[in-house]
Amino acid sequence: MGRDLPWRRSRDPYAIWISEIMLQQTQVKTVLPYFDRWMALFPTVAVLAAADQQQVLKAWEGLGYYSRARNLHRTAQVLVQAFGGQFPKELDPVLKLPGIGRTTAGGILSAAFNLPVPILDGNVKRVIARLVALEVPPGEAIDRLWGISERLVPKDRGRDFNQAFMDLGATVCTPKHPDCPSCPWRTDCQAYAQGVQTQVPKAVVRSPLPHKRIAVLMAVNGAGEVLIIQRPQAGLLAGLWDFPRWRVGR
Ligand code: SF4
Repeated sequence: MGRDLPWRRSRDPYAIWISEIMLQQTQVKTVLPYFDRWMALFPTVAVLAAADQQQVLKAWEGLGYYSRARNLHRTAQVLVQAFGGQFPKELDPVLKLPGIGRTTAGGILSAAFNLPVPILDGNVKRVIARLVALEVPPGEAIDRLWGISERLVPKDRGRDFNQAFMDLGATVCTPKHPDCPSCPWRTDCQAYAQGVQTQVPKAVVRSPLPHKRIAVLMAVNGAGEVLIIQRPQAGLLAGLWDFPRWRVGR
């Protein structure tokens, strides 16, 4: 039995696309209220395309990674202008839309149209890495992992398979405590056979985080008005209103 999520009750590519973008860097339980509010505010791609950018960014407030909201807005305008408001059913045009990569495209095309298009999100990468007892971090074997995901997805069950694949990673083949005795793939899983399931996938050795010193100006005039400026349309928090700030020192 898969997870019961509001976007899974829908076959509307618009609703599925919105959920896929929200889920890119955010957990399901955080996305749920945002998704409901978004669909009430912007129920169709045409309404989203016609909205003001500040209204779109406001609806996204708190979800982070605001480039996702700006890309949703731009893509809605592209869909209305170039595709008659319909979501394309082929992979190539979907991959050309702003903010949609291969996994997101696979998630939308399989869930909305039941197409056998593979996905490779974090959960799926972990499951595949364990199935084959991958000896390197997944980032060093991306082409191989895509190839396996592509071979696994059945031609006539793209929707069910991809959703089950993600659910397996989210609920059974979890990062720290995989529940192998309950897993339907345990007889095919090389990591389980070797007893190394918690050591796979291999971690990447990360370089230390850079430190920056930032000065922030907070100015209030006699009328109680606060000075804020709109940030540029590219880079961190693009298009949002903020106190003036700049980098100091090295
Ligand atoms: S047997 Fe264990 S490690 Fe292998 S896919 Fe299943 S849950 Fe993951």
